[in-house]
Amino acid sequence: SGKLWDAIILGAGAAGLMAGITAAGRGKRVLVLDHARKAGEKIRISGGGRCNFTNLDASAKNYISNNPRFCISALKAYTPKDFVKLIDQHAIAWHEKAAGQLFCDESAKDVVAMLLDELEAAGGRLLLGTEIKVVEQRDGLFHVATSRGSEQARALVVATGGKSIPKMGATGLGYDIAKQFGLDVLPTRAALVPLTFSDSQKTFAAGLAGLSVDAEVRFGKVRFREGLLFTHRGLSGPSILQISAYWQEGRPVTIDLAPDGNCLETLIAARKSNPKQDIATSLSTLLPKRLAKAIAEREGMKGHIAEQGDKLLRKLDEVVHRWQVVPVGTEGYRTAEVTLGGVDTKGLSSKTMQANAMPGLYFIGEVVDVTGQLGGYNFQWAWASGVAAGRAL
Ligand code: FAD
Repeated sequence: SGKLWDAIILGAGAAGLMAGITAAGRGKRVLVLDHARKAGEKIRISGGGRCNFTNLDASAKNYISNNPRFCISALKAYTPKDFVKLIDQHAIAWHEKAAGQLFCDESAKDVVAMLLDELEAAGGRLLLGTEIKVVEQRDGLFHVATSRGSEQARALVVATGGKSIPKMGATGLGYDIAKQFGLDVLPTRAALVPLTFSDSQKTFAAGLAGLSVDAEVRFGKVRFREGLLFTHRGLSGPSILQISAYWQEGRPVTIDLAPDGNCLETLIAARKSNPKQDIATSLSTLLPKRLAKAIAEREGMKGHIAEQGDKLLRKLDEVVHRWQVVPVGTEGYRTAEVTLGGVDTKGLSSKTMQANAMPGLYFIGEVVDVTGQLGGYNFQWAWASGVAAGRAL
């Protein structure tokens, strides 16, 4: 307190720590503030505890934003390979899971420890358990009133993340600060989140809860081929989390439950070769038994396959390969991995993340209207935007 910092960074998450490391490494006096008792809590729980810390293929196509080109510059200036280099310097063992997705072999905690070591080595200060009360700009300085007194800096970096998982400390502080300084904030929405069903559809999904299939899920022109999981409330699994970032309320998603099969051909062949086979059994050559049985039941199809006319088989083909379902909603911020929308990139420099109308004010990470797909893209954005600001401070 009483000291003048070059930069105060609000939020000791992925983006804030990275900005702090970068700026402190360039000799800047940096203070990172967070109300949580531990830094990087979301990193710790990420990727099922193994942290999917980057994706080697990260490029603008993997991000959703009102301005899809905004992320390009920062992603180019700090690449997935740059982050892997840092991970390697700290001897953190990693592996590639699905194509391009890099995970820790041991624990996400290693990534948090790495960032904290880097920040300390660079001389950055970290103050946890600190509430942010008021932020003001006076006489060319940013004044931050906290539960531990007041701090002043030439620059303020907002890295307070999105709204997802309030239990882990997520708040709307970053959006409030943006509005306070006249920046636009685009509507926010939970994403990378399970979809929920109405009561009538719920019975079908709940009966299959825990079952997962390889599926292709589509919304408009966007499609993902990954696992799909039935839950007590609706659908989840990677393909559903992915599509949740694109899905619009009131509209259907289309699901192919057997993307490698041909339902109609299979059933017609079964009718010839195995006329006495139960219809659900015939279906189960394409789908897990439980799912085959549930679909046949839902469609009111019973008895031998020989008794089913072409029209009914076509109907089954439709519901297996082009199942249209209108989710009623999502599970919301309680379980969402990210928040869509946020600080409008129109007001920011894509090179530095600085607010055009307020020199010295920066927004980085998830608080910005840049949202990655599932697969390590969100952390890569946090690292890249953090480095962009850290180099500019
Ligand atoms: P955060 O990491 O959320 O950090 C924000 C910080 O600001 C927090 O420490 C918070 O305590 C602090 N803060 C907030 N409000 C205040 C306030 N009012 N006062 C003081 N401090 C405040 N992405 C991937 O790329 N790969 C994954 O494997 C992955 N897994 C995930 C798993 C889960 C369960 C979740 C929820 C998310 C996952 N994500 C993953 C997304 C990723 O965690 C986020 O995109 C990323 O953490 C965003 O970084 P950030 O620094 O912008 O925000």
